[in-house]
Amino acid sequence: MSEPTPELPETENPKAPGTPEEITRKLEDFIKNTLGGQVLFTRVEGPGGRSMPEGEAKPVEEAKADHGRVFEFNYRPADIKAHLDRFVIRQDEAKKVLATAVCDHYHHAQMLRDDRESNSGGPRLEFSKQNVIIIGPTGVGKTYLVKHIADLIGVPFVKADATKFSETGYVGADVDDLVRDLVAKANGDIELAEHGIIYLDEIDKLSSGPERLGRDVSGRGVQTTLLKLMEETEVALYAPNDIRSQMQMMFDTRKGRTGREVVNTRNILFIVSGAFGGLEKIIEKRTNRKSIGFVSSDTKTTSAEYLFREARTKDFIDYGFEAEFIGRLPVRVVCDPLSADDMFHIMKNSEGSLIRQYEREFAAYGVKAVFKDDALREIASRAEEEKTGARGLVTAWERVLRDFKFEMPSLGLPELLVDGELVKEPEQTLAKCRAEAVSQFRELGAAHAGEVRAFAERFQRENGFMLDFDNEAIAAVAARAQREGLHVEALCEKLFKDYPFGLKLVTRSSGATRFLITTDAIANPDKYVSELVVNACRNQPEPPATPNIIDISHDSTAHES
Ligand code: ADP
Repeated sequence: MSEPTPELPETENPKAPGTPEEITRKLEDFIKNTLGGQVLFTRVEGPGGRSMPEGEAKPVEEAKADHGRVFEFNYRPADIKAHLDRFVIRQDEAKKVLATAVCDHYHHAQMLRDDRESNSGGPRLEFSKQNVIIIGPTGVGKTYLVKHIADLIGVPFVKADATKFSETGYVGADVDDLVRDLVAKANGDIELAEHGIIYLDEIDKLSSGPERLGRDVSGRGVQTTLLKLMEETEVALYAPNDIRSQMQMMFDTRKGRTGREVVNTRNILFIVSGAFGGLEKIIEKRTNRKSIGFVSSDTKTTSAEYLFREARTKDFIDYGFEAEFIGRLPVRVVCDPLSADDMFHIMKNSEGSLIRQYEREFAAYGVKAVFKDDALREIASRAEEEKTGARGLVTAWERVLRDFKFEMPSLGLPELLVDGELVKEPEQTLAKCRAEAVSQFRELGAAHAGEVRAFAERFQRENGFMLDFDNEAIAAVAARAQREGLHVEALCEKLFKDYPFGLKLVTRSSGATRFLITTDAIANPDKYVSELVVNACRNQPEPPATPNIIDISHDSTAHES
């Protein structure tokens, strides 16, 4: 049987799918069915690539109106550094250099705009763009710095690994997508996107010099395409090679959303970073040559970070960068590796500390997690061994806290003391928590057994059914009452209000008038009674056998006395 011919989407047909996704999907199906699935559809994120949901997509003019005057910059370098100090520990040099470069960049952008707006007609202001290279190992706060700068000054920020790009964009991603992503981050506001920050990590992988084995000419190709973006170019808002993007354009046009279709990169700030492994050798060689007559053993003992601070344009060229490319990145700064002490301070003092996050996570279950310094010190030294910067903190904590995160929410303990002992002996500590929970649970049950009994007696008087709460159920109802701020009897009233009706049905089928109440009944009373009814109707008259009920009231008396 021959395949039915797929229909082409008719965009003017009112029944035709309306959204770009629907149109694209139909078109994809059509082409795949017709051409045998050999056509590759790339999906590009961005306002042109990403189909913004109806409510999200805004005509450019509308987006501008939302922002008023698109971008105002009123910061001094010290303001930016002060903001960074709240979150980023160490990296003082990077903070200062970045803060200054950002201020220069945006003040200049503002001057250009004021100049344009006042139509001064004078010569165009000269400015060399302050694009930045950050050299530093992984996990030391490079991205964190840039992200917080973008947050503070209110510009969109896009991060990508340089390795994912190819020269043409046909195989890897297209560097222009970065600019389109900025527009997406700016909610379609092109002018704001034109003041955004593009951050490219692993830039060192684009080098193609003798020091860099493995990367071929395409690294150079990507450098060239990036170079254009870093200078000044216009990027199409709708990716020309991407069908989805083109569909979005059709859709926007149909909806009357016309506006600018290009994004100018003049005012976009580029920050690139990498570990630049091996660069220190190049610098070492050069400084050795230069430092003939000085004590050369000094150079050998100097740490790589110290040498990185000496990096010159020539060293980057020797490393395998195009002179033009490196020339567009005039601001260079080094981020230092983090010591165990730095990591301790990150946990203790950074506003973005992981510890605050853990505290919140436990607090969501009513557990107050208290982190002691000895625990932080122990984790910091383990994280240092990971050699992944502050990322090692997550790994180290995860190993220690994994089981606590799973079990604490169910144990019902109000507090978790995270000290050095817990970090060193997590399993034993968790076992102690379990034991404590059981004893607290029992104590709670014992303390409230009288109230539960009073409820059960009243229930029997009023309805003729005896509810036998087992000890665990008594403790569970007491714990729940405490959590919900209710009196135990009031909670029982609430939980078992529909039981008289359900139990009547059970009695009719099975004749039973006495029912065991377990923790399942406390957790989900309706489900529990439904099961009793169903079991009774299935001619299984016996409710679950009443287990050995220990009279908690004795404990209660003992406890009270
Ligand atoms: P990279 O240097 O590889 O870009 P990141 O900046 O992404 O590393 O750091 C990863 C995470 O580690 C951050 O999100 C942050 O929580 C934490 N972190 C890293 N360095 C610092 C630092 N110097 N101060 C505070 N937190 C940091």
